Amino acid sequence: MPEKYDLHCHSNRSDGALTPTELVQRAQAQGVTALALTDHDTTAGYGEALIAAANTDLKLIAGIELSVSWRTLSFHIVGLNIDPNDEPLLEDIRQLQIVRSERAEKIAEKLEKKRIFGALEAVTKAADDGMITRTHFADFLVSNFHVSSQQDAFDRYLAKGKPAYVATVWADLALSVGWIKQAGGVAVLAHPLRYNLTPKWMKRLLSDFKEAGGQGIEIVTGRCNPDEIRRAADFASSFELAGSVGSDFHSPTNQWVELGRLAPLPAHIKPVWELFG
Ligand code: AMP
Ligand code: MN
Ligand code: MN
Ligand code: MN
Repeated sequence: MPEKYDLHCHSNRSDGALTPTELVQRAQAQGVTALALTDHDTTAGYGEALIAAANTDLKLIAGIELSVSWRTLSFHIVGLNIDPNDEPLLEDIRQLQIVRSERAEKIAEKLEKKRIFGALEAVTKAADDGMITRTHFADFLVSNFHVSSQQDAFDRYLAKGKPAYVATVWADLALSVGWIKQAGGVAVLAHPLRYNLTPKWMKRLLSDFKEAGGQGIEIVTGRCNPDEIRRAADFASSFELAGSVGSDFHSPTNQWVELGRLAPLPAHIKPVWELFG
């Protein structure tokens, strides 16, 4: 039986809807044989996922999706096959939790200026002890009938340039890649086409990423077409990066994205899992 990899998904320790246990069970039901849990800026779900995966055939890979800053822009770097208890990485995670809490306060203040109250209490409760994300704000706006959908919440309030957007400085890209490497992991640029960079800026980003020790790039994501796979694979070839596959699954309510429902990696691309020690 060939392996079925899904190397990017979220639990309710960040902005996913399922517990780590439910996520592992759903992955198995979808035929996934190797799963990386990659919550935003936290490895807190790994322990529970590991227990859920024990005595099953599912290989669980410890991961994280780090929010990073490069120049004035923000990017996501997936760390795969990391030591989830690596101390420098945990210190970065503690800093990111502070950054996220402070950002949440500012987003809530901006919503109050739009006469939308109670957001901070709601997202703090919803995130529990996990990371507060803009998705939590989107869910709050939906459930209080300020918007019709998560997408609408981003389009009207939360996306860059909208009234409740707060520019955030995350840890530097090169430092973040270094922490992933030091934790024994492989650093992968997440969903490269979602940043809408021109080819010139994409090249600058990828050469800095590579120089910092980045080794992979996501090529197949949960909702991508053959042309997008080709474009991402071209970046991998040009920069000699390995290719990753990950659904970026968040919730069963999104019918377009499912765990393990992924096109195969193009044959000429080196799979990122060959780099796992
Ligand atoms: P944050 O890391 O807190 O800025 O939240 C980012 C998360 O919000 C992403 O991981 C997505 O899950 C979600 N997100 C970002 N932009 C959008 C969008 N335009 N529509 C829906 N969800 C989005
Ligand atoms: Mn997310
Ligand atoms: Mn992302
Ligand atoms: Mn993600």
